[in-house]
Amino acid sequence: MQVVGSLSLRDALNAVDEEGPFLAGIFGTVLVDAAGEEIVQQAVRHVPTVVFTSRLDAATQEAMWSRGIVDYVAKESMESFDHVVELLDRLQHNAEVGVLVAHRDSLVRHRLRDLLQRHNYDVREARNQEQVLESVRNQPDLRLLILQATLEQDATTQLLNRVRKLRPREELAVMVLSEPSDRYNVARLIKFGAGGSLAQHCTPEELYSRVALNLGLLATMRRLRDMAIRDELTGAFNRRHFMERGQQEFARWKRHNEPASLIMLDADHFKKVNDTHGHEAGDQVLRQLADTARAQLRTEDVFARLGGEEFVVLAPDTSIQGAMELAERIRAEVEARHVPVKGGRLAFTISLGVAQTLEQDTDLEATLRRADLALYEAKENGRNQVRVG
Ligand code: GH3
Ligand code: MG
Ligand code: MG
Repeated sequence: MQVVGSLSLRDALNAVDEEGPFLAGIFGTVLVDAAGEEIVQQAVRHVPTVVFTSRLDAATQEAMWSRGIVDYVAKESMESFDHVVELLDRLQHNAEVGVLVAHRDSLVRHRLRDLLQRHNYDVREARNQEQVLESVRNQPDLRLLILQATLEQDATTQLLNRVRKLRPREELAVMVLSEPSDRYNVARLIKFGAGGSLAQHCTPEELYSRVALNLGLLATMRRLRDMAIRDELTGAFNRRHFMERGQQEFARWKRHNEPASLIMLDADHFKKVNDTHGHEAGDQVLRQLADTARAQLRTEDVFARLGGEEFVVLAPDTSIQGAMELAERIRAEVEARHVPVKGGRLAFTISLGVAQTLEQDTDLEATLRRADLALYEAKENGRNQVRVG
């Protein structure tokens, strides 16, 4: 981030007008030419204003919030600076975070919308369960649902149930918005998959802190899930996840009698790449190989690294003919690319084996074995080619 500092309110506001727009202006409450509320009163008209002060009494805070500041950070210790940095980081990224406010009362919705928008969240509204479900279904960037505890009276728990079937805990955070009389509803909703609650009349500071906390937990859960199912080097799924997904898909094809195809890919003479150009160049080749293959796939295809320099594509609803064409496209794309290495560019090739699920296959391993044999033939036959098993 680029930072401009000034000692006076006048210089600060000039900087905003001349060099802006700024993500935020962080204001102390004692400057050389102004102090206290006067600073805030003027600042909020020019720039999203964060107040950084040691004055913590309720009346002062109340006054600042009512002027429309973005946030209020207490200057208490060195850690306070971390809070400022975290806040700026959120302000910068919140535009990609969808938040849905679901409440019957438009005044409540608008208050929350206004507060959340000050923190740059991308806010949507819903006033009944149809609108909630519609958003949850159709807005993949939705990360947080703030749900009135009694949006659908006693049926709110069923609503949350349906939301959870569409989006599990690691994909969507849910906070219950409650009034004092809703205590029992809140507890039930937490059992049904809400991550926390929020009093309808909470202060802005509490709203922001709890929202940030819930979204932080969500991000951690997503990161952990990704670490558990993905290969770090290439971002492809790992072998364990592939086998799990693969077995599920396999059972589905058997039931519906739909063919699917597998493509095994293996880098040619990869050991030589490592030996000649070093392990780092080898890693670079693997990353590029994965990116190139992925670019050719549909969203429903599953791409995984089985180990070393060996990858697999699982293509649902794909005949052997379609899989061969896909495999050939990947082969040609990989051959056409290079990775930069010391003293030039390095080209590399892959061999591919293709197989389709057959009636007699009892599990995914059987299909995989045929794809593997085909891959072996492609290697034997001179590499840089596609073979069918
Ligand atoms: P072929 O054309 O027959 O497939 O020959 P190859 O050299 O590609 O195959 P081989 O199985 O003999 O060698 C694979 C090499 O891949 C050996 C191993 O050190 C290297 N390798 C495995 N995982 C990684 C990795 O994550 N990074 C790098 N740089 N190399 C790896
Ligand atoms: Mg190899
Ligand atoms: Mg290999």
